[in-house]
Amino acid sequence: MGEKLAGKPVVQSLRENILSRVEKLKENNVTPTLLLIRVGAREDDLSYERSILKNCDLLKIKCNVLELPVTVTMEELTCVFEKANRDQDIHGIMIFRPLPDHIDPEVVRNLIDPEKDIDCMSPINLEKVFEGRSTGFAPCTPKAVIELLNYYEIPLNGANVVVAGRSLVVGKPLAMLLLDENASVTICHSRTKDMPSVTQKADIVVAAIGRAKFMGKEYFSEDSFVVDVGINDDGNGKICGDVHYDEVIENVKALTPPTGGVGLITTTILLQHVVQACEKATNVKKFVTSV
Ligand code: NAP
Repeated sequence: MGEKLAGKPVVQSLRENILSRVEKLKENNVTPTLLLIRVGAREDDLSYERSILKNCDLLKIKCNVLELPVTVTMEELTCVFEKANRDQDIHGIMIFRPLPDHIDPEVVRNLIDPEKDIDCMSPINLEKVFEGRSTGFAPCTPKAVIELLNYYEIPLNGANVVVAGRSLVVGKPLAMLLLDENASVTICHSRTKDMPSVTQKADIVVAAIGRAKFMGKEYFSEDSFVVDVGINDDGNGKICGDVHYDEVIENVKALTPPTGGVGLITTTILLQHVVQACEKATNVKKFVTSV
């Protein structure tokens, strides 16, 4: 029976660090503040919003929610970003995606100030991830995977890692973060021939394909460490991963659970980024006042 790689202890350890940083900021009369922009009221967005608000409460981070109608125009959205970018009391901005069809996501990605782009929407932050520069904000889910692997002391230096999935949100940036940790990375996708023969040989496999319980025990070896990023509906209204948990946990070294794994860590990383953005902005403010 493999070890269950739960997200909760990872979150607890991250929270301790974030809380002490928030306390320090508050001692300097600064409250880290996040602006959430929601267009419409999709259930997925509302559920993520509830989780963010709950975590903000725990971490003493202020969170403002701006709800916009689904009919919002590109011009109105541009004004919202311009105002929020200028507002020195807002340190991080996140807009729930996907956006309605009449809003061009490529234009929106360029509206946000990269210094407040805590969810790595801006191409400037994504470019930094691909250049291996840690001065921006990496996407939260790939960063959550790295935090989990580090927390459980799963060695990355020289490890063979397979990332299944090549999206710009998860697979590709994760591959870059793994390279920064000196792993040798292979990326698989829907055109990969005989994926089990590739994943079986890896020390670590990260599943991010968005296919319910797609990867069974034939994808892994008894020495595999497996991280399941997938969040899917199992067809019976229950959440499941990309990996067939019950079958695979019996046959690998360690595996994340379908709930309470990487997803749990992602929101905490988002808020860690708010604090990071706030610390940076505060230093700039101090520098400007002292000149
Ligand atoms: P996506 O944009 O749909 O990308 C899926 C990727 O998987 C694509 O690269 C696709 O290949 C590949 N793929 C699809 N079917 C495959 C197959 N049968 N064999 C091999 N590769 C296959 O999805 P995403 O946004 O990256 O999300 C992936 C999963 O992670 C989803 O379940 C999503 O809900 C979840 N997710 C979780 C979090 C979290 O915090 N835990 C955050 C974001 C997403 P092609 O490129 O060839 O089409």
